Amino acid sequence: MNVHTIPGATAVQERPSANRPRDPESSAQSVGKFKALTRKNLDSISQYGNVTDDDLFAMKVVSAVLPFRTNRYVIEHLIDWDRIPDDPVYRLVFPQRGMLEGGDFSRIADLMIRDATPQEVDSAAADIRERLNPHPAGQRELNIPQEEGETLEGLQHKYRETMLFFPSQGQTCHAYCTFCFRWAQFVGDKELKIASKDAVNMHRYLADHPNISDVLFTGGDPMIMKTRVMEGYLRAFIDEPALAHVQNIRIGTKALTFWPHRFVHDEDADDLLRLMEDIVNSGRHVAIMAHFNHWQELRTDVVQEAIRRIRDTGAVIRAQAPLLANINNDPDIWAKMWREQVRLGVIPYYMFVERDTGPRHYFEVPLERCWEVFRGAIEQVSGLARTVRGPSMSATPGKVEVLGVQEVAGEKVFVLRFLQGRDPDWVGRPFFARYDPKATWLDQLEPAFGENSFFFEDGLKALTQ
Ligand SMILES: *Cc1c(COP(=O)(O)O)cnc(C)c1O
Ligand code: SF4
Repeated sequence: MNVHTIPGATAVQERPSANRPRDPESSAQSVGKFKALTRKNLDSISQYGNVTDDDLFAMKVVSAVLPFRTNRYVIEHLIDWDRIPDDPVYRLVFPQRGMLEGGDFSRIADLMIRDATPQEVDSAAADIRERLNPHPAGQRELNIPQEEGETLEGLQHKYRETMLFFPSQGQTCHAYCTFCFRWAQFVGDKELKIASKDAVNMHRYLADHPNISDVLFTGGDPMIMKTRVMEGYLRAFIDEPALAHVQNIRIGTKALTFWPHRFVHDEDADDLLRLMEDIVNSGRHVAIMAHFNHWQELRTDVVQEAIRRIRDTGAVIRAQAPLLANINNDPDIWAKMWREQVRLGVIPYYMFVERDTGPRHYFEVPLERCWEVFRGAIEQVSGLARTVRGPSMSATPGKVEVLGVQEVAGEKVFVLRFLQGRDPDWVGRPFFARYDPKATWLDQLEPAFGENSFFFEDGLKALTQ
């Protein structure tokens, strides 16, 4: 299919660019086998566009602290180098000066200018990372289950019906997002990782918890694993009677954006699709929880082919993403993305508020603006795209949706509700917070109408101590 068949789209690949290497066929095969490009490749990557020496230096500084990784598909097919630095995929993947706050930036820059040893740079970087809230919302302490006094690494169980699983081989991605809240898992610090050694714990925990209907494979990106490794985790759902209650297998991934070849040209792509089809045929729902931030990620022939092939297995693709300043802070971008998703058979699912971690000051958007973007987008699309919910904060007590700003009994308030709660009884109850135009996260909000606390706070205390 030709990208020009999308109304109103300007094809990224078709734009002439003097200094971008041309792809004769712009086809799938042209980027070959997957190969990660990292910080040490920055010099050669910068030849693609109008990257100035200053920008290049800034990238080296920022990537000393925050993880950087990309690949040729992203560089050659997703980024419009004529539009940098404003191109959304460029901002999504390439480190920008503003991602480190002034003092942190100059601290690393100074070390690099005076040729400090790599150890000196690393130790300053580790120090800065420590202050960037590497595990927001009590990720490490609160949700990791224990059995017989033993901590089950690689599992998270926060909401009754859904267990998260972090396969240890899936703790990386085909490229890294600059805003990623999982960034702490990529910087090689063992202490910061949440990962599992093997499938045994997962299968045992699920067998012991018959009320879990959903398992969500996450990472990193589980699609980075070879199909053969995924078989080891997933075949059991077909073969093991003790896992019969697990009805829905979800796989969270950004491979459709960063490496759609995973589903089309990789040597084990067909085996992966067969595995998905076998799970579907065993009577289960297989959901690919795809991550798309911008419609530009949906436009290449190969991503559209990947979507078709996944859907042919009977799996369903649902799409979710955070709202980010400098990338998709615009209702028209979301409306166009959701329309495009519906056209391709992808179901819009969640719009998230950017989490309170990493370079949040660069990406964060006030809650009121998040709601305006959501409303401005959803009013433009048909009911088929209104399956999406949000803007939603994945906070300590649960997923909290901002329903809007409203005046109630003479007080301007945020109207909120739980989409998911640590206590399922919280779900679906509207509640109110005092209006605050600057608030960007739940913990900055105060109860409205002179109340002392939110209705869930006592319950939360009881559940998390
Ligand atoms: C979002 C999330 C889930 C899944 O929630 P759904 O609303 O069912 O998609 C499960 N566990 C955690 C920790 C989550 O953040
Ligand atoms: S693909 Fe997901 S886990 Fe990987 S860097 Fe991006 S947001 Fe993080």
